[in-house]
Amino acid sequence: MFHPNPSGVDFISMDVDIERVLITREQIAQRIQEMAKAIVADHAADQGENVEITLVPILTGGMVFCADLMRHMPVRMRIGLMTVSSYPGKSLRTQGASLLGAQLGDIRGRHVLLLDDILDSGGTLKLVVPLLKEMGPASVKVAVLLKKDRPEAKEVVADYVGFEIPDEFVVGYGLDYNDYYRNLPEIVTLKK
Ligand code: 5GP
Ligand code: MG
Repeated sequence: MFHPNPSGVDFISMDVDIERVLITREQIAQRIQEMAKAIVADHAADQGENVEITLVPILTGGMVFCADLMRHMPVRMRIGLMTVSSYPGKSLRTQGASLLGAQLGDIRGRHVLLLDDILDSGGTLKLVVPLLKEMGPASVKVAVLLKKDRPEAKEVVADYVGFEIPDEFVVGYGLDYNDYYRNLPEIVTLKK
């Protein structure tokens, strides 16, 4: 069975693939509230009472994180989108990050908070952060839900990190394998 589900909905046809639950939905919910609080406090300290943030989730993986985080951020907010692919299809290791598209609007003078599901090799952030900075925002900060415990990930700066995890392939909460499992509410490993 999948991890006990308070909503009473059983996950049909997915729980058979799950090896173990690394982070439960309760842990994620708790941590997201803490992160939102810290993000709002830092931006308010920098900007004062007219604080405004432009959230930029990196699609597709960052969308679930963004959706939950933004609802704990009671400030003026805009959303921009960027799509980056690094683990196409059935890859278990990054194939190098490439930008597939962006819908950012005019971010000149805006305080941008880039959101990604996981910081792994750092390739995605090394690609995207300089691109954003070239567009003339007032600031660019980065929040990731997960950070893998590997040397490359330590070389890249993320201002906010939800959880450090072992260097294993995980899915759920936006993270996919071959585009599946993004709707799992927990972070899990898959059977080989
Ligand atoms: P990086 O560019 O830092 O190597 O990796 C970031 C991107 O790779 C993430 O946005 C995510 O899409 C993908 N990724 C990295 N590690 C994992 C993982 O363990 N599982 C899944 N499903 N995707 C990952
Ligand atoms: Mg991604």
